[in-house]
Amino acid sequence: MSVHIGLPSEVSSILRRLTLAGHSAYAVGGCVRDRLMGRVPSDYDITTSALPEQTQELFSDCRLVLSGLKHGTVGVIVGGSVYEVTTFRTDGSYGDGRRPDSVSFTSDISDDLARRDFTVNAIAYSPELGLVDPFDGYGDIKRGIIRTVGDPLRRFSEDGLRILRLARFCSTLGFEPEEASLSAAKELKHMLKKVAAERISEEYIKLVCGENADRAFLLCRDILSSVLPGLYPTVPLKDRSDSKAVRLALCGGTKGLKVSNDLKKRVDLLLSAEPPQNDRISARRFLSVYGADMLEDIFACFRARGVSDADGLEKLCNRVLAEGDCISLSELAVKGDELPTSGAETGILLKKMLDAVIDGRIENTKEELLTKGLNL
Ligand code: ATP
Ligand code: MG
Repeated sequence: MSVHIGLPSEVSSILRRLTLAGHSAYAVGGCVRDRLMGRVPSDYDITTSALPEQTQELFSDCRLVLSGLKHGTVGVIVGGSVYEVTTFRTDGSYGDGRRPDSVSFTSDISDDLARRDFTVNAIAYSPELGLVDPFDGYGDIKRGIIRTVGDPLRRFSEDGLRILRLARFCSTLGFEPEEASLSAAKELKHMLKKVAAERISEEYIKLVCGENADRAFLLCRDILSSVLPGLYPTVPLKDRSDSKAVRLALCGGTKGLKVSNDLKKRVDLLLSAEPPQNDRISARRFLSVYGADMLEDIFACFRARGVSDADGLEKLCNRVLAEGDCISLSELAVKGDELPTSGAETGILLKKMLDAVIDGRIENTKEELLTKGLNL
């Protein structure tokens, strides 16, 4: 097929080195799909007939990552990025519903493409040979369809994670699932119980951040509610610039997800935040609770929830910040060691002072704080 796609020079040079040594080599999977769709790939994977030890030998002048060696993957570091170079592989039987019991290497690219989850992800590309696309993945890209490679019941039984990946790609690519793939995914949704929480969480987060998350939730409601009960969008997810935390909050939070404590805390705050009144003191109090760095996300949630005059309130908060109003202990004009108190009392007094300054009862100056402030 005479389709040509641009590859970064690092990828082209890895492919060239492999082919000059007599091996076949292609860019494969998500990066080819994304380039065909005019999107920017998140990473580039390379597939090759070279055996892992041959790849290692060939790139012995580069730093290598060898943690994936038993699956045939050699990570080659070029220009600070890792490119995964994986030997053409077929997967053995799937005893555990998630990972193949064994993998074996093959010299045929078609075998490697056949083990991949969806037709749109089963396309390889080389600058010399163009596309290798035995399952018409490019046709499905043009039609906007997600379809498993081969019988969906078999493919989802092999690896339950693919069920959630189906929903995820509907969301991120804006594609519709092919009918047989969707009904097999629904029928086998219990397979997701065998999948590690980390993997579920990764795919779910990609799903909620997708442009068509609403549609994916609608189509895959049964699947999602069986694996992550209670997580469903409470409002339409329209704003493309939403952060991950905003999207998670608008979909009910992080219950059942394996996410960092920081992200969980942020999402919980977004879920609990209520808008301030439209006056300076309320805005200061609001800012003192949530901090400046939460502002954008909080107002994105307010807007999505339809809070009235969210834009006006956000402007007010930004003005309060820009004009340097005191909203935190570190901005008070006195420090703890300037007070006549000690220990826990100092903390209590500083907090009272901050409250008084926020409420406008005293000025944030050393004189006022060390006179009126001491009588609070
Ligand atoms: P992203 O843009 O999020 O990276 P991706 O399609 O590249 O999407 P990856 O998880 O990076 O997804 O996987 C790379 C490729 O490996 C996929 O495109 C697909 O060909 C194959 N693949 C990944 N996970 C599976 C799976 N569970 N079963 C079969 N093939 C898979
Ligand atoms: Mg990828």
